[in-house]
Amino acid sequence: MQKETYTKEKLKKIIEEKLSGYYGLTMQNAETKHLFKAVALLTRDILSEKRRDFRIKTKKDQAKQVYYFCMEFLIGKQLRNNLCNLGIENEIAKVMNESGFSLDDLYEIEPDPGLGNGGLGRLAACFMDSLATMQYPAVGYSLRYEFGLFKQKLVDGWQVEFPDNWLQDGEVFMIPRTDYTVNVKFGGYIEENWEDGNMTFEYKDYQTIEAVPYDYILSGYHTDGASVLRLWRAKSPTSIDVTAFSQGDYLKAIEETARAEAISKVLYPADNHYEGKALRLKQQYFLVSASLQNILARHRQTYPSFDNLHEKTAIHINDTHPTFAIPELMRLLMDEYGYDWEAAWHITTNTMAYTNHTILSEALETWPEQLVQTNMPRIYSIICEINKRLCADLWEKYPGDWEKIQKMSIIAFNQVRMANLCIAGGYSINGVAKLHSEILREIVFKDFHEYSPEKFTNVTNGIAHRRWLIQANPLLTEVLDECIGTDYRTNARELEKFKKFAGDSAVLKRLEKIKQHNKIELANYAGKKLGMTLNPDSVFNSQVKRMHEYKRQLLNVLRIISVYNEILENPTADILPQTYIFAAKAAPSYTMAKNILKLIYCLGEDIRKNPRCKDKLSVVFMEDYSVSLAEKIIPASEVSQQISQAGKEASGTGNMKLMMNGALTIGTMDGANIEIADAVGKANIFIFGLTAKEVDNLWASKYDPDDYYIRNEKLIKVIISLNNGFNGESFQYITQSLLSAHYVADPYMCIADFADYDRAHTLLEKTYLNKAKWNEMSLMNIASAGIFAADRSIKEYADNIWHINPVYLD
Ligand SMILES: *Cc1c(COP(=O)(O)O)cnc(C)c1O
Repeated sequence: MQKETYTKEKLKKIIEEKLSGYYGLTMQNAETKHLFKAVALLTRDILSEKRRDFRIKTKKDQAKQVYYFCMEFLIGKQLRNNLCNLGIENEIAKVMNESGFSLDDLYEIEPDPGLGNGGLGRLAACFMDSLATMQYPAVGYSLRYEFGLFKQKLVDGWQVEFPDNWLQDGEVFMIPRTDYTVNVKFGGYIEENWEDGNMTFEYKDYQTIEAVPYDYILSGYHTDGASVLRLWRAKSPTSIDVTAFSQGDYLKAIEETARAEAISKVLYPADNHYEGKALRLKQQYFLVSASLQNILARHRQTYPSFDNLHEKTAIHINDTHPTFAIPELMRLLMDEYGYDWEAAWHITTNTMAYTNHTILSEALETWPEQLVQTNMPRIYSIICEINKRLCADLWEKYPGDWEKIQKMSIIAFNQVRMANLCIAGGYSINGVAKLHSEILREIVFKDFHEYSPEKFTNVTNGIAHRRWLIQANPLLTEVLDECIGTDYRTNARELEKFKKFAGDSAVLKRLEKIKQHNKIELANYAGKKLGMTLNPDSVFNSQVKRMHEYKRQLLNVLRIISVYNEILENPTADILPQTYIFAAKAAPSYTMAKNILKLIYCLGEDIRKNPRCKDKLSVVFMEDYSVSLAEKIIPASEVSQQISQAGKEASGTGNMKLMMNGALTIGTMDGANIEIADAVGKANIFIFGLTAKEVDNLWASKYDPDDYYIRNEKLIKVIISLNNGFNGESFQYITQSLLSAHYVADPYMCIADFADYDRAHTLLEKTYLNKAKWNEMSLMNIASAGIFAADRSIKEYADNIWHINPVYLD
């Protein structure tokens, strides 16, 4: 097929056509918002063509496909990514400039689709980028939430949530595919009938909800690959005929419509926390049922039956949220297509793979049996049968070991355990960093690992370096291009070559200048958009991620308070000027997280108002953390705070983004920090604190924070300061939670890790004073970050789990 080439002239002509066609405008009288829409529509058209060609070749090759199921895709803004991946950014920029517009202004006005909470959703988005670039045939499935993650504002230091009505201007990149609408059924009951000695099931009195797909097309970077992200919208099939309804029925009909459409109304805003609401359950089933119907329809376009489904399809269950895909595929194969249990089980268990994302007990998904039975009666009966057969097998293998069988069963104590269903109903389970996968094997799923060790594996997370390095940090990209060529853009391991420049003082100086430039950009943005003053001549020390106790923003705050105390005690003390940057959303119902947020705000205000701290110490909280804000903060950061309690952060990906942008990490031996330390070398990272094993041991020996606190003068003062308060507010409730008066004192061991954290931070500050040394360490971080590209993760998934191959156009 002849591929289109898009010259500047051609692009300009199409933009003019879009402007005229949609708005009756020309370049002369259009505004930035019109130009944004015109350029967005232009890229959408190019993406569609590209996807069509890639899909045709995929079908022709009968290539195996991967389908990635996830309740969240935090894709970020699309325009720049599309232009960059399509290789038309420079031409479009020229067209804009010649007409008196700036492409950056177009980028600014695009809303950021907040269809995810944090790391999990962002990972899924990064993976889509790599799948497309490496030309693997892939479709991502999720929900088209009408309201994404809430917008965060601080009022007097308290988080206030505002609805994110992103669709108003954000719909432009999505293509509605009403032709692929399917029905999803809820409620009702199952009637069992015997027919010729076979049991058949009739589903009665159910409620139907339409699932309408909307597609984002995601282009590979300078390759022929293009993936689809298909988002389902819930729609009531009842069209309301006003005259045919008495008034009461009319209102009821509207109510029913609203209830049906509520399913895709809003993203649940809790990160790493289980939300046992009926509506959430319905969202989960809605996603998997619609997606599987779509997958089966696609399969039948090429193959005569589903006998080979598992040879041509891998379905990935990202975290346990889409676990009902397992019983739903069983249901479709048996009830709709006449497969018997064994055949359906063979296909299903060879199709489904699962990634675990957390071992936090509060995040463990278990659904009340009753809720599942009421909303999805047939799914419930299939889960019961899966469980019965699993337990029978376990009984044979471990006769009499009731305790083990109870722990491994899918249903127990009236709860459906989603992770156990995933392991039993799939062929693969992986963690997201070496330590995390080890904890899964040795502790969390020890029994399952013993029972089916071949299913267990690890794939360490990665990030889309094209977004987080090439697009977010253009100046650094320029240096890299000059020093090592451009191959690292599609082969991030090439970044290693940058190590050769570790002794090149000109390159190191340039890195320093780029960081300074990025800091000034962030300071300008903060000044203009948030009305806050950032001093670019201080160290930018960032902890940007969801607000969660296990991530220990509080530990960071405790040490800042102790620095503050030092300045107050000794105003002439020689202190390295630093700006501590925080950005974090708290789940709306997470009280402690909101309290810590308030503390950060009040501490920041107290310091800001104290003239002694001027140009020495500053704490800023930047509102509304999102992909867009992350893209501004990360390239400007010099210190990366990755200080979770060891054993709690499954991997982290913010740590990778910051490293790749030249920030030095201060962190615990947790998640991917361990692999970051391996990659960059212990000399180029600041590691501190208890290890995961030491944390376990300390719990076992009855951890008492008082043992540490009474022996540490700095900590004693910090506790006094917290009680006295900041900005007129006492934080005694926080000190109470930290000390032994409390029921479980200091559950994340901030007190136990304080001294070593303080030691590591002091070393970090001392190191910073030798700027040449610091720049060299920064370079080593950039050059060692290639292994954390999502391309590497995806290659591992493709080769070791999905067994899929790239598709190349002729
Ligand atoms: C990368 C990213 C995260 C994950 O950050 P962690 O530090 O790994 O928790 C969360 N939110 C956004 C917007 C991100 O870009």
